[in-house]
Order: sequence, then structure tokens, then C-alpha cells
Amino acid sequence: MTSPYHTALKTGLAAVRDASGICQEIRSNCSSDAMNKQDHSPVTVADFASQALICRQLSQAFPDDPVIAEEAAEELKSEAGKPFLEEIVRRCENLGIACRPADVCEWIDHGRLSEYRDRFWTLDPVDGTKGFLRNDQYAISLALIENGRIVLGILGCPNLPLHSDAADGPRGVLAWALAGQGSWMQPLDAPETEPIRLSISDTDEPSRARFCESVESGHSSHDWSAQIAAALNIDREPFRIDSQCKYLAVARGDADIYLRLPTRPGYQEKIWDHAGGVIIVTEAGGTVTDIHGAAPDFTRGRTLAGNTGMVVTNGQFHQQVLQAVQSSAPP
Ligand code: AMP
Ligand code: MG
Repeated sequence: MTSPYHTALKTGLAAVRDASGICQEIRSNCSSDAMNKQDHSPVTVADFASQALICRQLSQAFPDDPVIAEEAAEELKSEAGKPFLEEIVRRCENLGIACRPADVCEWIDHGRLSEYRDRFWTLDPVDGTKGFLRNDQYAISLALIENGRIVLGILGCPNLPLHSDAADGPRGVLAWALAGQGSWMQPLDAPETEPIRLSISDTDEPSRARFCESVESGHSSHDWSAQIAAALNIDREPFRIDSQCKYLAVARGDADIYLRLPTRPGYQEKIWDHAGGVIIVTEAGGTVTDIHGAAPDFTRGRTLAGNTGMVVTNGQFHQQVLQAVQSSAPP
């Protein structure tokens, strides 16, 4: 089947593969010191290097496409950022990309779009930085949005077991979805391998569901999810995993539900924390809404300002989960 987005997909997959490679290399060299951003969240060389590489490739292939990405070069221009910037230049040169510090900053700031456009990309260069720092799960997430609709999504998950039933087996998954053409995955390091089509679980009874949520209770309320689980008679322990690997877990049937429950009023979810994962779940047959049952609205700029939290299921009992969320909502 052909798609008008095949060139975009090919470019995006190559960029996410390269960025995943540099993240793995940084992780294995242990040069993953973090500095704190203005919002006190951690950021590493990997976050900046991944954004620089992906934005460079997107700007070369699609010079007219703007990008809404998480990071800004401003942090690298400070005294504290200087060693980070020098390391990124060195790593780019090792990949055969000759550049100056100013080039790296320019590539990163190619991702500084903040307002909505009819066509734009959104990128989380390292989603789950806390997981990356713990040597746990993280993801590189990229999506293309046209007229408010996600048309393609890609997740690079370097640390995720390829086969969910073989935790000690090979790791590294590349997953993607094209609107109307399903969700797929292949080993991150083997682009020649035939892709496998992803499909949500067939669990049709909420009490038998397995739900996943953030490792970080500061990103999604664990107390609230425990109440929801009780209301649905779920007695299996939650599957806690960082990053949009949670979306992939639902898309490939490792989990049946992903709950993202606000920890405080007023927090606006960031579009790059969701776009890539949302289409991978919906194209695999699942359902994604916010906690009120509204579809995620990608027309508001950098945040999902029209939504609250997120509820992701295999689609078999979405309403029941929403009811349990609403009936247990904190005052
Ligand atoms: P996770 O890996 O599920 O813990 O999510 C990581 C993402 O949580 C990061 O990319 C942040 O953008 C996002 N985040 C940071 N603070 C919050 C918060 N208070 N509520 C929800 N998400 C947050
Ligand atoms: Mg993120």
C-alpha cells in the first residue's frame, strides 16, 4: 500500500535510528551527567545530541517543516552547558558530521516552534530522561501532524526487550505507525528485518487487565490509579515503565491499559510526550482519550491545553475505565 507519507517515514525512521544509536553510545560511556533545566527536570548530553541529529535530518529533507521539540540550545550556551556542547560536537564528528558548536545550537533550535501550524513535526529526543539516567527505559519519539491529525508516529526504544516474554533476550525496538496503515515494529539495529504488525490484546474483561503507568509518581498519580484498579477489580500489580514505552506496551498487547493521571490541577501534558505513542496505539486497534473521554487535541501548540491526563486502553472496556476514573477522581 502506498502512502503520501512514505518519504517522511523513511527520513523519520533513519533519524530516530541514528539518534537511538547516539543515546546508547552515551549511555554505555557513562557520560550521562545531568544538568537541571529551569523547570528543575534533568537533561543530558543525549537529549541535546538526539534533538540535534533528528532536527538536522528533518531540516535537510523537509526545510519548510517546522518542529516542536522539547529542548532549547539556550541551556547549552551557559557556562554549565559548555562541556555538553563540546561533547556533542565531538560525537557528531565521530559520526562523520563535521560541525561547529553554533551548528549544533542551530539544529537544536530548529525545534523551537511553539505555536500550532497546519503541518509540523513534534519530537521528544529522550522521553523518560529519568529512566535513561537509571539505565532503565526511555524512548525517542517523533510524529508528523497535519491539520491537527497525527499522520505518522515513530518510537525508538533502545532498552526495551524485543520480545515481551523474553526479558533477558535481545533489546532495542523501533516501532512506527502511518495513519490508516497499521502499527509495526522491527529490531532497532536490523532495518533489513521484515517488520511485525502490532496488535492490541484481546483482554475483554477489565478485572483481568494489566495496567501500566509511570515509574515516577510525580508524573502520574499512583494513589489514584490504585483506587481505579480497585474499582475495576484489578488485582494484578501495575506495570511501571518510563516513557512512551507505555504506549508501545499497550499497542503490542503487553498491557491492556495505560493511565496518566494528573498529580496536580493545571498541569498541561506536552504534545511530544504523547503524539508518537498515540498513533501507534490507535493504529494497533486501541483507544486513546483524556480522563474526561475527549480526544487528544494537537492544535494548541506545545501542550495538550484542551486535555487532562490520558487514558489508553485496548478499546474493549474504555468507557468502564473512564467511569472508574471519574468515580474515584480526587476532590
Ligand atoms: P514518564 O516517563 O511517563 O514518567 O513521563 C516522562 C515525561 O513526564 C517527561 O517527558 C515530562 O515532560 C513529563 N512530566 C514532567 N512533569 C510532569 C507532571 N507533573 N505531570 C505529568 N507529566 C510530567
Ligand atoms: Mg518526555
